[in-house]
Amino acid sequence: MQQCDLRFDRDHIWHPYTSFQDPLPVYPVQCAEGCEIELTDGRRLVDGMSSWWAAIHGYNHPALTAAAKAQLDQVSHVMFGGITHQPAVELCKRLVKHSPAGLERVFLADSGSVSVEVAIKMAVQYWAAQEQPAKNRLATLRGGYHGDTFAAMSVCDPVNGMHSLFRGSLREQLFAPIPQLTPDEPWDPTVIAPLERLLSEHQHELAALILEPIVQGAGGMRFYHPNYLTEAARLCRHYNILLIADEIATGFGRTGRWFACEHADVSPDIMCVGKALTGGYMTMAAVLCSDNIATTISAGPAGGTFMHGPTFMGNPLACAVANASLELLEQEHWPTQVAAIESQLKRELSPLLHLPSVADVRCFGAIGVVEMQQAVDVATAQQAFVDAGVWIRPFGRLVYLMPPFVIRPEQLTKLTQAITELAQRQ
Ligand code: PMP
Repeated sequence: MQQCDLRFDRDHIWHPYTSFQDPLPVYPVQCAEGCEIELTDGRRLVDGMSSWWAAIHGYNHPALTAAAKAQLDQVSHVMFGGITHQPAVELCKRLVKHSPAGLERVFLADSGSVSVEVAIKMAVQYWAAQEQPAKNRLATLRGGYHGDTFAAMSVCDPVNGMHSLFRGSLREQLFAPIPQLTPDEPWDPTVIAPLERLLSEHQHELAALILEPIVQGAGGMRFYHPNYLTEAARLCRHYNILLIADEIATGFGRTGRWFACEHADVSPDIMCVGKALTGGYMTMAAVLCSDNIATTISAGPAGGTFMHGPTFMGNPLACAVANASLELLEQEHWPTQVAAIESQLKRELSPLLHLPSVADVRCFGAIGVVEMQQAVDVATAQQAFVDAGVWIRPFGRLVYLMPPFVIRPEQLTKLTQAITELAQRQ
């Protein structure tokens, strides 16, 4: 059994979104297998988070682990400048095959946020190449989340993303209201009017509209009507603005389709994927774009060069694991698994709507959200969840589940039961 020096951790290591002086508690993990995470004290927790949308096949999956081990014996990393390798070629072939029509050129990046930077840079370079450098701002939706680097932060929700803290350092972008209609409500064409106004008024300075298709994740876990996306894509074409779909959270089956854009039959000009790309094994992301964008950039200034090239671009180890993960998805068990998770989540979480502590319950694909009336105390809730044998991490007023696709019904019930108990206690 490995020891985990919690004292050193507390004194020296920064964890995400917490203070250094008074950090939220951390739980030391020994190992993980299937849908269970094992702590160093031997307790096993059913995982409701898929490690932030990533571990769709569960942990330590034999096929993914074998792919990583086999690749380690070949080469774990080699620079991508002037070199290529079959794991990358195979991965990009697969990405092109499964992505919405027209997305044919692939840039491999090293994290979701970086892929958003790359997508934004592609959009800006696309207009610069056509001698329209004024088209360099972005439109987006309130309630969105696109990552923690600066350009990505500039298109996160201004309140959640704490834009006030970074005023002066962040580019000011243009925001349309949160789409108000859920996928189950009848379509009302007037909801698109504010977006149309924004795009029409600012078309001369807009490089692209960037959005999370159908599911707004870390910015509030909201689901919106597919027609909103169809209309947004139509407006982008009409006003000559590129559409960037951030599928980093939604890609690879989470919403019941390979990509959430498919719910609206939309092919964006640029698409970012990450998170579940490697089945949660390691960090990797990709940006796909249309042939038009790639050839336009290539005909432009900068000698036709696209100005990006991270050190770990195309990392062979990550590519090999991503290939194994996509191979599993290609066996097509996930549509049934995701549909079963969705109906179970609806069945077991919907009754919570009647509790006074609960403001809303919503489920879409393998995502279940309980929105509380009051913000949840993370440290207390987390402790209660761990005591109940589950791993769920609430934020703000949101307690949510996005389990691995391979979760068993009784494991999922353990998760919904723990949320029910929390909601009853509040
Ligand atoms: N876009 C979306 C929609 C995301 O959910 C996230 C991560 N939560 C990101 C971008 C950023 O990805 P990463 O954390 O890998 O940088």
